[in-house]
Amino acid sequence: MKWDEDAKQLQEQIPIPPMMSSIARLQSEKIARHKGLDRVTLEVVKETEKVYGDFMGEEKTRELKAFLAGEGPAPSMEEELFFDNEEVLYSIDVCFTKYGENTPEVRNIIKDMMRSVKAVLEEEKVNEIIADLAPIALHAGHRFNVVLTGCPNCCVSPYLKDFGITIQHRVDITDAECTQCGECLKMCFDKAIKLTDQGPVIDRKVCAMCELCARDCPTGKLVTGARGFRVIAGGSGARQPKIAETIENFTTKERTITILKNAIGKLRKAKPGETLRDIIDREGPEALR
Ligand code: SF4
Ligand code: SF4
Repeated sequence: MKWDEDAKQLQEQIPIPPMMSSIARLQSEKIARHKGLDRVTLEVVKETEKVYGDFMGEEKTRELKAFLAGEGPAPSMEEELFFDNEEVLYSIDVCFTKYGENTPEVRNIIKDMMRSVKAVLEEEKVNEIIADLAPIALHAGHRFNVVLTGCPNCCVSPYLKDFGITIQHRVDITDAECTQCGECLKMCFDKAIKLTDQGPVIDRKVCAMCELCARDCPTGKLVTGARGFRVIAGGSGARQPKIAETIENFTTKERTITILKNAIGKLRKAKPGETLRDIIDREGPEALR
Protein backbone atom coordinates (compact mmCIF):
# COMPACT_ATOMS: atom_id res chain seq x y z
CA MET A 1 0.00 0.00 0.00
CA LYS A 2 1.20 3.54 -0.74
CA TRP A 3 1.98 5.96 2.06
CA ASP A 4 1.79 9.76 2.04
CA GLU A 5 5.10 11.30 3.06
CA ASP A 6 3.71 13.08 6.16
CA ALA A 7 1.96 9.84 7.21
CA LYS A 8 5.27 7.98 6.98
CA GLN A 9 6.96 10.55 9.18
CA LEU A 10 4.27 10.51 11.85
CA GLN A 11 4.24 6.70 11.83
CA GLU A 12 7.91 6.67 12.86
CA GLN A 13 7.12 8.87 15.84
CA ILE A 14 4.27 6.79 17.27
CA PRO A 15 5.23 6.09 20.89
CA ILE A 16 5.60 2.31 20.83
CA PRO A 17 8.56 0.03 21.56
CA PRO A 18 10.80 -0.37 18.44
CA MET A 19 10.01 -4.10 18.28
CA MET A 20 6.35 -3.24 17.55
CA SER A 21 6.93 -0.73 14.76
CA SER A 22 6.59 -3.13 11.79
CA ILE A 23 3.31 -4.49 13.11
CA ALA A 24 2.07 -0.94 13.78
CA ARG A 25 2.52 -0.18 10.07
CA LEU A 26 0.10 -3.03 9.33
CA GLN A 27 -2.37 -1.46 11.79
CA SER A 28 -2.28 1.78 9.75
CA GLU A 29 -2.77 -0.14 6.51
CA LYS A 30 -5.69 -1.99 8.06
CA ILE A 31 -7.34 1.29 9.09
CA ALA A 32 -6.77 2.68 5.59
CA ARG A 33 -8.29 -0.43 3.99
CA HIS A 34 -11.33 -0.27 6.25
CA LYS A 35 -11.85 3.33 5.19
CA GLY A 36 -11.77 2.28 1.54
CA LEU A 37 -8.50 4.17 0.93
CA ASP A 38 -5.72 3.03 -1.37
CA ARG A 39 -3.05 4.88 0.64
CA VAL A 40 -2.13 5.59 4.23
CA THR A 41 -2.82 9.23 5.06
CA LEU A 42 -1.89 11.46 7.97
CA GLU A 43 -5.41 11.09 9.42
CA VAL A 44 -5.09 7.30 9.32
CA VAL A 45 -1.80 7.38 11.24
CA LYS A 46 -3.35 9.70 13.84
CA GLU A 47 -5.95 6.98 14.42
CA THR A 48 -3.20 4.39 14.72
CA GLU A 49 -1.48 6.60 17.28
CA LYS A 50 -4.67 6.69 19.32
CA VAL A 51 -5.18 2.93 19.09
CA TYR A 52 -1.64 2.32 20.43
CA GLY A 53 -2.05 5.05 23.05
CA ASP A 54 -5.07 3.15 24.40
CA PHE A 55 -3.17 -0.12 24.20
CA MET A 56 0.07 1.00 25.87
CA GLY A 57 -1.64 3.06 28.57
CA GLU A 58 -0.92 6.64 29.59
CA GLU A 59 2.19 5.98 31.66
CA LYS A 60 4.09 4.01 29.02
CA THR A 61 2.97 6.31 26.17
CA ARG A 62 4.30 9.34 28.06
CA GLU A 63 7.66 7.62 28.70
CA LEU A 64 7.99 6.49 25.08
CA LYS A 65 7.07 9.93 23.72
CA ALA A 66 9.74 11.60 25.82
CA PHE A 67 12.28 8.98 24.75
CA LEU A 68 11.49 9.36 21.02
CA ALA A 69 11.72 13.15 21.35
CA GLY A 70 15.17 12.77 22.95
CA GLU A 71 13.84 14.26 26.16
CA GLY A 72 13.92 11.21 28.40
CA PRO A 73 15.67 7.90 29.03
CA ALA A 74 14.69 4.67 27.29
CA PRO A 75 11.67 3.24 29.12
CA SER A 76 13.03 1.21 31.96
CA MET A 77 13.02 -2.57 32.01
CA GLU A 78 12.12 -4.18 35.28
CA GLU A 79 15.49 -5.86 35.87
CA GLU A 80 14.19 -7.69 38.90
CA LEU A 81 11.60 -9.44 36.77
CA PHE A 82 14.22 -11.11 34.58
CA PHE A 83 15.42 -14.42 35.98
CA ASP A 84 18.78 -15.25 34.54
CA ASN A 85 20.61 -18.11 36.21
CA GLU A 86 21.77 -20.85 33.89
CA GLU A 87 23.36 -22.72 36.76
CA VAL A 88 20.19 -23.90 38.47
CA LEU A 89 17.59 -26.51 37.59
CA TYR A 90 14.62 -24.19 37.81
CA SER A 91 13.44 -21.17 35.86
CA ILE A 92 11.05 -18.34 36.61
CA ASP A 93 9.53 -16.65 33.59
CA VAL A 94 7.43 -13.50 33.77
CA CYS A 95 4.95 -12.34 31.10
CA PHE A 96 5.30 -9.07 29.13
CA THR A 97 4.92 -7.27 32.45
CA LYS A 98 8.70 -7.60 32.71
CA TYR A 99 9.10 -5.28 29.71
CA GLY A 100 7.18 -2.58 31.57
CA GLU A 101 3.67 -3.45 30.43
CA ASN A 102 0.92 -3.43 33.01
CA THR A 103 0.47 -0.97 35.86
CA PRO A 104 3.15 -0.21 38.49
CA GLU A 105 0.85 -1.81 41.06
CA VAL A 106 0.70 -5.10 39.17
CA ARG A 107 4.45 -5.02 38.52
CA ASN A 108 5.04 -4.64 42.25
CA ILE A 109 2.74 -7.57 43.03
CA ILE A 110 4.70 -9.73 40.58
CA LYS A 111 8.05 -8.56 41.97
CA ASP A 112 6.95 -9.43 45.48
CA MET A 113 5.68 -12.86 44.36
CA MET A 114 8.86 -13.50 42.38
CA ARG A 115 11.03 -12.82 45.43
CA SER A 116 8.96 -15.24 47.51
CA VAL A 117 8.96 -17.94 44.82
CA LYS A 118 12.74 -17.65 44.42
CA ALA A 119 13.23 -17.89 48.18
CA VAL A 120 11.09 -21.05 48.37
CA LEU A 121 12.89 -22.71 45.44
CA GLU A 122 16.21 -22.00 47.16
CA GLU A 123 15.16 -22.95 50.71
CA GLU A 124 13.56 -26.19 49.54
CA LYS A 125 16.67 -27.06 47.51
CA VAL A 126 14.73 -27.61 44.29
CA ASN A 127 18.03 -27.71 42.45
CA GLU A 128 18.99 -30.93 44.24
CA ILE A 129 15.49 -32.44 44.05
CA ILE A 130 15.36 -31.98 40.26
CA ALA A 131 18.93 -33.23 39.84
CA ASP A 132 18.04 -36.40 41.76
CA LEU A 133 14.86 -36.96 39.73
CA ALA A 134 16.58 -36.74 36.34
CA PRO A 135 16.99 -40.25 34.93
CA ILE A 136 19.56 -39.24 32.29
CA ALA A 137 22.34 -36.67 31.92
CA LEU A 138 21.18 -33.35 33.36
CA HIS A 139 20.18 -30.70 30.83
CA ALA A 140 17.95 -27.62 30.63
CA GLY A 141 14.92 -29.74 29.71
CA HIS A 142 14.86 -31.09 33.28
CA ARG A 143 14.23 -27.65 34.79
CA PHE A 144 11.27 -27.03 37.06
CA ASN A 145 9.56 -24.16 35.23
CA VAL A 146 7.56 -21.52 37.07
CA VAL A 147 5.63 -18.84 35.16
CA LEU A 148 4.14 -15.64 36.58
CA THR A 149 1.63 -13.60 34.60
CA GLY A 150 0.07 -10.23 35.38
CA CYS A 151 -3.31 -11.04 33.86
CA PRO A 152 -5.30 -14.06 32.65
CA ASN A 153 -4.16 -13.40 29.08
CA CYS A 154 -1.36 -15.84 29.98
CA CYS A 155 0.70 -15.02 26.91
CA VAL A 156 3.69 -17.01 28.21
CA SER A 157 1.60 -20.17 28.54
CA PRO A 158 1.74 -21.09 32.24
CA TYR A 159 -0.74 -23.81 31.28
CA LEU A 160 2.07 -25.72 29.60
CA LYS A 161 4.55 -25.41 32.46
CA ASP A 162 5.15 -27.12 35.81
CA PHE A 163 3.80 -24.30 37.95
CA GLY A 164 1.90 -21.14 37.02
CA ILE A 165 0.71 -18.15 39.00
CA THR A 166 -1.69 -15.73 37.32
CA ILE A 167 -2.90 -12.51 38.88
CA GLN A 168 -6.69 -12.17 38.82
CA HIS A 169 -8.37 -8.79 39.14
CA ARG A 170 -11.96 -8.68 40.34
CA VAL A 171 -13.91 -5.82 38.76
CA ASP A 172 -16.50 -4.07 40.96
CA ILE A 173 -19.53 -2.12 39.79
CA THR A 174 -19.86 1.21 41.63
CA ASP A 175 -22.63 3.79 42.02
CA ALA A 176 -20.91 6.10 39.52
CA GLU A 177 -22.74 7.07 36.33
CA CYS A 178 -22.71 4.79 33.29
CA THR A 179 -22.80 6.88 30.11
CA GLN A 180 -23.46 3.80 27.93
CA CYS A 181 -20.27 4.60 25.99
CA GLY A 182 -19.63 0.90 25.29
CA GLU A 183 -15.88 1.02 26.02
CA CYS A 184 -16.21 -1.89 28.45
CA LEU A 185 -17.95 -4.04 25.81
CA LYS A 186 -15.11 -3.31 23.40
CA MET A 187 -12.48 -4.42 25.90
CA CYS A 188 -14.23 -7.57 27.13
CA PHE A 189 -12.93 -10.32 24.83
CA ASP A 190 -14.88 -12.87 26.87
CA LYS A 191 -18.21 -11.13 26.25
CA ALA A 192 -18.93 -11.24 29.98
CA ILE A 193 -20.61 -7.82 30.11
CA LYS A 194 -24.20 -6.94 29.27
CA LEU A 195 -25.12 -3.30 29.11
CA THR A 196 -28.58 -2.60 30.51
CA ASP A 197 -30.36 0.74 31.03
CA GLN A 198 -29.14 0.60 34.63
CA GLY A 199 -25.52 0.06 33.55
CA PRO A 200 -23.20 -2.94 33.11
CA VAL A 201 -23.91 -6.42 34.41
CA ILE A 202 -21.00 -8.87 34.62
CA ASP A 203 -21.43 -12.62 34.19
CA ARG A 204 -18.97 -13.76 36.88
CA LYS A 205 -18.88 -17.32 35.50
CA VAL A 206 -17.50 -16.05 32.20
CA CYS A 207 -15.41 -13.12 33.44
CA ALA A 208 -11.68 -13.91 33.20
CA MET A 209 -10.82 -11.19 35.78
CA CYS A 210 -8.52 -9.30 33.44
CA GLU A 211 -9.58 -5.78 34.58
CA LEU A 212 -9.42 -4.40 31.02
CA CYS A 213 -12.98 -3.07 31.26
CA ALA A 214 -12.20 -1.23 34.50
CA ARG A 215 -9.05 0.31 33.04
CA ASP A 216 -11.02 1.78 30.15
CA CYS A 217 -14.26 2.80 31.88
CA PRO A 218 -14.16 6.62 31.77
CA THR A 219 -16.57 7.27 34.64
CA GLY A 220 -15.42 4.82 37.31
CA LYS A 221 -18.61 2.78 37.03
CA LEU A 222 -16.29 -0.22 36.70
CA VAL A 223 -13.24 -0.28 38.96
CA THR A 224 -10.65 -2.85 39.94
CA GLY A 225 -11.46 -4.29 43.35
CA ALA A 226 -9.67 -7.12 45.12
CA ARG A 227 -6.87 -9.05 43.47
CA GLY A 228 -6.04 -12.71 43.87
CA PHE A 229 -4.03 -15.50 42.24
CA ARG A 230 -4.95 -18.48 40.12
CA VAL A 231 -2.50 -21.29 40.82
CA ILE A 232 -2.05 -23.88 38.11
CA ALA A 233 0.27 -26.85 38.01
CA GLY A 234 1.30 -29.93 36.09
CA GLY A 235 1.31 -28.64 32.53
CA SER A 236 3.70 -29.88 29.87
CA GLY A 237 4.43 -28.88 26.30
CA ALA A 238 6.76 -31.80 25.66
CA ARG A 239 6.18 -35.30 24.25
CA GLN A 240 2.57 -35.89 25.32
CA PRO A 241 1.44 -32.27 25.88
CA LYS A 242 -0.90 -31.57 28.75
CA ILE A 243 -2.73 -28.46 29.94
CA ALA A 244 -2.04 -27.73 33.61
CA GLU A 245 -4.77 -28.18 36.21
CA THR A 246 -6.14 -25.28 38.21
CA ILE A 247 -5.26 -25.92 41.83
CA GLU A 248 -6.93 -22.86 43.32
CA ASN A 249 -8.72 -19.80 42.02
CA PHE A 250 -8.60 -16.26 43.35
CA THR A 251 -6.49 -17.29 46.28
CA THR A 252 -4.07 -15.40 48.52
CA LYS A 253 -0.32 -15.06 48.26
CA GLU A 254 0.10 -17.19 51.40
CA ARG A 255 -1.97 -20.03 49.91
CA THR A 256 -0.06 -19.75 46.63
CA ILE A 257 3.24 -20.21 48.45
CA THR A 258 1.82 -23.11 50.48
CA ILE A 259 0.73 -24.83 47.25
CA LEU A 260 4.20 -24.32 45.79
CA LYS A 261 5.76 -25.86 48.90
CA ASN A 262 3.30 -28.77 48.71
CA ALA A 263 4.27 -29.33 45.08
CA ILE A 264 7.95 -29.38 45.97
CA GLY A 265 7.24 -31.75 48.87
CA LYS A 266 5.58 -34.14 46.41
CA LEU A 267 8.53 -33.89 44.03
CA ARG A 268 10.92 -34.69 46.88
CA LYS A 269 9.18 -38.07 47.32
CA ALA A 270 8.71 -38.76 43.61
CA LYS A 271 10.36 -41.60 41.69
CA PRO A 272 13.22 -40.88 39.26
CA GLY A 273 11.86 -39.60 35.95
CA GLU A 274 8.62 -38.28 37.44
CA THR A 275 7.45 -34.70 37.10
CA LEU A 276 4.71 -32.70 38.80
CA ARG A 277 2.46 -33.67 35.93
CA ASP A 278 2.85 -37.39 36.77
CA ILE A 279 2.04 -36.72 40.41
CA ILE A 280 -1.12 -34.74 39.55
CA ASP A 281 -2.19 -37.41 37.04
CA ARG A 282 -1.88 -40.03 39.77
CA GLU A 283 -3.13 -38.19 42.86
CA GLY A 284 -5.29 -35.41 41.41
CA PRO A 285 -4.92 -31.63 41.83
CA GLU A 286 -6.19 -31.85 45.43
CA ALA A 287 -2.88 -33.48 46.39
CA LEU A 288 -1.29 -30.02 46.20
CA ARG A 289 -3.88 -28.19 48.30
S1 SF4 B 1 -12.63 -8.19 33.89
FE1 SF4 B 1 -12.14 -8.74 31.75
S2 SF4 B 1 -13.35 -10.58 31.36
FE2 SF4 B 1 -14.21 -9.62 33.20
S3 SF4 B 1 -15.87 -8.33 32.48
FE3 SF4 B 1 -14.03 -7.03 32.56
S4 SF4 B 1 -13.11 -7.16 30.49
FE4 SF4 B 1 -14.62 -8.83 30.69
S1 SF4 C 1 -17.21 1.78 30.01
FE1 SF4 C 1 -18.15 2.46 31.93
S2 SF4 C 1 -19.42 4.20 31.35
FE2 SF4 C 1 -18.93 3.15 29.45
S3 SF4 C 1 -20.63 1.69 29.12
FE3 SF4 C 1 -19.08 0.56 30.26
S4 SF4 C 1 -19.64 0.85 32.41
FE4 SF4 C 1 -20.76 2.40 31.27
